[in-house]
Amino acid sequence: MSLDGVYDPDNIFAKIVRGEAPCAKVFEDHDTMAFMDVFPQGRGHVLVVHKRAHARNLLDVEPEPLQATILTVQRVARAVRFALKPDGVFIAQFNGQVAGQTVYHLHFHVIPRWAGVPLGRHAGGGMADMAELTKLAEAIALELS
Ligand code: 5GP
Repeated sequence: MSLDGVYDPDNIFAKIVRGEAPCAKVFEDHDTMAFMDVFPQGRGHVLVVHKRAHARNLLDVEPEPLQATILTVQRVARAVRFALKPDGVFIAQFNGQVAGQTVYHLHFHVIPRWAGVPLGRHAGGGMADMAELTKLAEAIALELS
C-alpha cells in the first residue's frame, strides 16, 4: 500500500477499538487507546492509536487527534519506563508499505530497550503469549497517572 489510499474502517486496530477483536489493553481515554503489540519487537512493546480519527498515517491525520495521540504516547512511554525500568524507550511510526507499515490505522510504537538486547523484527516475529501480555499491560497501567 502506498501513502495514498482510503481508510478501511475494518482494519484490525479499528476492530480492537470497537471491541470486535481482543487485545491486552493498557490505557483508554475519550480519544485514544493503548494496547500490547501481539508480535512484539521486545518485552513491553505497546501500540497507541486514536479511537475515531480515520487516518491511515501521520501524513493524513488532523492536528487535534494527532495531539491527543502523541500526548498518550508520552504518558505510556513514562509508564513503561517506571513499570519495566528499561535503559531507553524507542518511539516508532511507519508511513506506507515501503517504510514498513503493515496496519493502515495511524499508530505509534512504544518499545522499551535494554542495553545489549537487540530489537526484534518489525511485525514479523512470533506471537506473544496473551497471559504474559496481560501481565505486562497491567504492570504498565499501574504506572499511568
Ligand atoms: P506497523 O507495521 O503498521 O507500523 O505496525 C503494526 C503493528 O501491529 C505491528 O507491530 C504488529 O506486530 C502489530 N499487530 C498486527 N496485528 C495485530 C493484532 O491483531 N493485535 C495487536 N495487538 N497487534 C497487532
